[in-house]
Amino acid sequence: MEITSVALQAQVKQHLGDLAAAVDATARDAAFTEGLRNMARFWRYSVLNQAYIRIQRKDATRVAGRLAWEAIGRKVKPGEESMFVLAPSRYSSGSARFVSVAVYDIKQTRGRKFQELDLLLTGRTRHTRTMERAAKALGIEVAYVPFGEPATGRSLGGRIEIQPGLPSMERTATLAHELAHELLHQTEDRRQERMKRPGRRHTHSEMETEADATAYVVMSVLGLPSKAPSYIPWQGGSGLTVLRAMTRVQRTVKMILEAGGVSDANGTMRRPLLVSTPNVQAQDRPRQGSGKPPSMGEATQLPTRATG
Ligand SMILES: [Zn+2]
Repeated sequence: MEITSVALQAQVKQHLGDLAAAVDATARDAAFTEGLRNMARFWRYSVLNQAYIRIQRKDATRVAGRLAWEAIGRKVKPGEESMFVLAPSRYSSGSARFVSVAVYDIKQTRGRKFQELDLLLTGRTRHTRTMERAAKALGIEVAYVPFGEPATGRSLGGRIEIQPGLPSMERTATLAHELAHELLHQTEDRRQERMKRPGRRHTHSEMETEADATAYVVMSVLGLPSKAPSYIPWQGGSGLTVLRAMTRVQRTVKMILEAGGVSDANGTMRRPLLVSTPNVQAQDRPRQGSGKPPSMGEATQLPTRATG
């Protein structure tokens, strides 16, 4: 069965309706709102400090000072040795300097259950290939390279970078999300630059909602799960933002699925139509070492878009 625009449109509409309801339900959920507050409280460590923490304690996941832990109902266990991070501090003269601050990993504390947002998909799927094929057909390069940002992927305009070592389910969802940024936001930025006419800029939460709603529908059509119901409210979106994105998401989903060679609504494959792809290279670098999943620290500070 070919995808007809009408059938796909109806399907996308249905999926987006479900997503909008799920986003609003998540936003009302007490555990979710507590998780959000916790994430805001735990400051984002710089790349340098993340490396520094890992040297001091390999299995560190959530790190904060004694007072931050106490504020959320946990206490540092007696006898635990602190780690140190560098934090900016100001003299009265106004010049900045760095001071060393004592921090503890969650495993060195005990008390109230720590509510976290779980935004990383686990599990395996063969559909990473489908998304790689879509990128190739659309002339977008995919590279699996580490980059120093707390995100699983980033869209650079003609090139997508994905952190190596993600579970294939997360890799597939991240590819779909970044493809949406490429098709929706990078293309628009370039067009506006060319026309030297700045159009209406989308807000961060609108762009993230559009990208993740697209990824949600692509994953749903392929029969795969998605974290969009938590990701979208985390990025400031709502059910209404999802519904407002309907037309743009419909168009983008169709482009991605067609480029990926998905021929019907159940995700059956056919050979894709290859558009010319001169400088496309997809390197899938296997994870070094033990195959341990990324730490919760990385997982919960997840995706932001490189291009703002
Ligand atoms: Zn994004």
